[in-house]
Amino acid sequence: MKVAQLGSGTPEIAVVGGIHGDEPCGVRAVERLLDENPSVERPVKLVIANEEALERRVRFVDEDLNRAFPGDPDAKTHEGRLANELVEELSGCFTFSMHSTQSHAEPFAIVNEIGERAKSICPQLPVQAMVETSEFAEGRLFSEIDTVEVECGLQGSETAAQNAHRLTRAFLTAVGALPGDTVGRDLPVYRLVDAIPKGEADSYEVFVDNFTEIEPGDPFAAADGDMQVATESFYPVLMSSYGYRDVFGYAAEKLDVVTTSSAAD
Ligand SMILES: [Zn+2]
Repeated sequence: MKVAQLGSGTPEIAVVGGIHGDEPCGVRAVERLLDENPSVERPVKLVIANEEALERRVRFVDEDLNRAFPGDPDAKTHEGRLANELVEELSGCFTFSMHSTQSHAEPFAIVNEIGERAKSICPQLPVQAMVETSEFAEGRLFSEIDTVEVECGLQGSETAAQNAHRLTRAFLTAVGALPGDTVGRDLPVYRLVDAIPKGEADSYEVFVDNFTEIEPGDPFAAADGDMQVATESFYPVLMSSYGYRDVFGYAAEKLDVVTTSSAAD
């Protein structure tokens, strides 16, 4: 883990990249911010999390770090110990954590629950939607630390790295660490209601677009050509053929739309 800081004093804001070692966008955003070294109006902690996995260009070394929280100093896995160190490092910080995905190119925000802070910050970010994980939060960073996660775009793409930089600057502006105003937008809100399991197979296909409603009877995925058909309507989120080992992604329900009338105060 690498830790740096913008400004002086004890940070209550943190920006994290590299929770997953095969998602370089957030790491590049953190490094670029360090290069730019902007003057800040409140101190910001910058963290590059899983350096070992990043070096090997793998999602994780022993286990998925974003399912390993709170971790344990005596854990047998690298990520179990790292999770514990991260929780200590980020304690007391409102945290912005960057990811990328194989499922969707447009950035969106993911929060544990839609509280006042999420409702105020997320509509100020250049994202398309806000997703609440509700009961699918176990082991994730935001089960321990007050965190907004963002999916910055497609894994390994130049666009995802540029998005990560834009998202970070918008976040830091929204929390008053960088000067200026943010642009507010209306955000649709989705809540994950089910994981969509995928059986063992050699090849997987996904036929649907994320955040676009599926009707009963619509085929949405296949494993070795074996078609899976929706029995009720849902919104697919984080759906991809090969993004996860044992699920295609998630079924979500659409809730409200949140708006912001003003920038950060
Ligand atoms: Zn990730």
